[in-house]
Amino acid sequence: MELPEYRIGNLTVIKVWELDLDDFAATQLLPEIEPDTLASDPAAMDSRTYNRDTGKVKLSVHSWLLRGENKTILIDTCVGNDKDRPTLKTLDHQHTPYLARLRSAGVRPGEIDYILLTHLHADHVGWNTQLVDDHWVPTFPNATIVCSGLEWRYGAALAAKDDAAIQSALAEAKLGQPIRTPVDGVFQDSLAPLEQTGSLRRITIDGSEVLEGIRFLSAPGHSIDHAAIAVSSQGEHAIFGGDIAHHPLEMSQPELVSMFCEFPDAARSSRRRLLDRAAESGVLFFSSHFPASSVGRVTRNGGSYRWRFFED
Ligand SMILES: [Zn+2]
Repeated sequence: MELPEYRIGNLTVIKVWELDLDDFAATQLLPEIEPDTLASDPAAMDSRTYNRDTGKVKLSVHSWLLRGENKTILIDTCVGNDKDRPTLKTLDHQHTPYLARLRSAGVRPGEIDYILLTHLHADHVGWNTQLVDDHWVPTFPNATIVCSGLEWRYGAALAAKDDAAIQSALAEAKLGQPIRTPVDGVFQDSLAPLEQTGSLRRITIDGSEVLEGIRFLSAPGHSIDHAAIAVSSQGEHAIFGGDIAHHPLEMSQPELVSMFCEFPDAARSSRRRLLDRAAESGVLFFSSHFPASSVGRVTRNGGSYRWRFFED
């Protein structure tokens, strides 16, 4: 099957799909949503994104594959196979043909040069490793993994239950105390094994260029040092939003926060800042969890935003 391909200058972008999730009620994903506003929300009128019969939202989990003349990049690595996620039943012990789909997009795991991680949650880092002979080993042996150093330190501190290191990371982030923490076990099975590979680049998220045309934009709140990724090539620009919004409902109602956001106030203000930027520049916005093509454009609509899929 031919996969849709998008262009940013001389880069091509392909969605490498892992999973569809259709078991979250809108009121569960976005606990503050009001039934009345939900009923009249344009995102709830679109059968691609919302099931009006069940009240459940439609979500996707996928990576974005970017290919340029001399580099191949994967943004986020989904859930992964065989991961023990007892508290996230829909992600627990997956067996998807994700790597076969990557191959059908024309890329073998050994050909990935860079993996860019928007943040370190279970559904964004899983394919960093795979289970071989009871050990978690890097799936992409030649890839340099680029991620936030602060988020890495926080994850390592939580995994080690090192309270002083946890408080030190929280003090550095200046977001206050979180209302939840990342899922247990993710750091141990999908991140820690990368430390031996020597191809880990833990960066400060400050908007500077980390690769030609690629910048991590600070957008904390969903996680402690969550980033969106801005990509430019030959005068064309795009934003890979990570989890600043999980569903178009968070664009039409930007004051909502998801059940997965760790620092809700920061998540709201980061979302507005990023969506303002996307709306003002009119760039393509590549989402992490929207269904259908998962890509589109954002426009301002009074105090909120309107989402339009690329294919519309
Ligand atoms: Zn996510």
